[in-house]
Amino acid sequence: MFFIVSFAACLINTFLMTGNSSAVNSILDQLSALGHKKVVFCNDPDTGLKAIIAIHDTTLGPALGGTRMWSYATENEALQDVLRLSRSMTYKAAITGLNLGGGKAVIIGDSRKGKSEAMMRSYGRFIQNLNGEYITAEDLGTTTKDMEYISMETKHVTGVPESIGGMGDPSPTTAKGVYLGIKACVKEVFGTDILAGRSVVVQGIGNVGEQLVELLRKDNVEVFISDINEEKLAEVARKYKAKPVSADKIFGLDADIYAPCALGATVNERTIPKMKFAIIAGSANNQLADEQANGQLLLEKNILFAPDYLINAGGLINCYSELTGFGKKRTMQLTENIYEATRNVIRLSKTDNIPTILAANRIAEQRIIDIKKIKSSF
Ligand code: NAD
Repeated sequence: MFFIVSFAACLINTFLMTGNSSAVNSILDQLSALGHKKVVFCNDPDTGLKAIIAIHDTTLGPALGGTRMWSYATENEALQDVLRLSRSMTYKAAITGLNLGGGKAVIIGDSRKGKSEAMMRSYGRFIQNLNGEYITAEDLGTTTKDMEYISMETKHVTGVPESIGGMGDPSPTTAKGVYLGIKACVKEVFGTDILAGRSVVVQGIGNVGEQLVELLRKDNVEVFISDINEEKLAEVARKYKAKPVSADKIFGLDADIYAPCALGATVNERTIPKMKFAIIAGSANNQLADEQANGQLLLEKNILFAPDYLINAGGLINCYSELTGFGKKRTMQLTENIYEATRNVIRLSKTDNIPTILAANRIAEQRIIDIKKIKSSF
């Protein structure tokens, strides 16, 4: 049995059952504060699917964002994650110049054992019911194979395998964008964007991290790597002659650049004081635990932060290309724009003496405001 519950309706039910008006206010206030348009809960007991789809803003186009499958400890934790991630997608599409809105989805469960074809196809039907307002893609815990199952029920999916007409795994394009973001920051700090002789610590050597290590090593960068997967750590160290470091050593390391490519919120009030890095630039989403406070602290410490949603936009560009039918050449051109876009953010940050994340937000918000005006005037 399928049913979609709009977020407001779900909360009103909670209110009617418990009489707890403060719960209604606090969560709806959160949605208002973050500017979300719609949140949809998906529940299918037959396949075990429990998912939340968050649509943040669709001014620029349909909301596109990946589906993350994760063993969240609570439903509220899943909700918080999807709200934060979907908002970042709005900013990512806007600053990258794509005609897309921001959305994201989470499936609650263990991706290693809780998945099935039926679950993914059931999820695909929920997406289909949104009539193209939300388009999905892969993310942590989901694969191109999952996208293929979803595509059996809806056309509103990207990141399907190349063998069936998709653009395949977006990670190499993401890594390329991160690499270019690093170069733009190095140019700012060291006066040249030649990377040879610089040192980078890559935290998380998964799909994106490993590709980034490869690109950096080709440029003769000294690369330190860290991962909770010991086997992968040893393999990547051997393959690229990178130097493994333990998790507790990362933040005090004497390296030029810290590239977070695992989880978010690793840049926070506890880690920043330990840092000697000149630059933070990586692929992980939402690297700053608190945009305002941590962004300001980095500015004061003279650590240049490359806004994550800008330099990790390669994956989104890849998905956009799949939707629009752009080829590999156009995809690469759009990805290469990340270098200049990062330079623009740094310029605004310096001119107005504001953290780079706030400069990026300002550029993204301005594009949304400008396009909204055009749309409403015709
Ligand atoms: P992945 O799952 O392939 O790799 C993540 C790696 O991080 C794994 O090897 C994992 O073992 C490791 N890891 C997890 N916790 C860690 C910890 N505490 N310390 C060190 N390592 C840890 O994921 P991915 O596709 O490479 O994505 C990496 C990050 O980049 C994610 O935050 C993702 O949301 C973001 N991102 C990815 C893409 C993409 O195209 N894949 C696009 C945009 C953003």
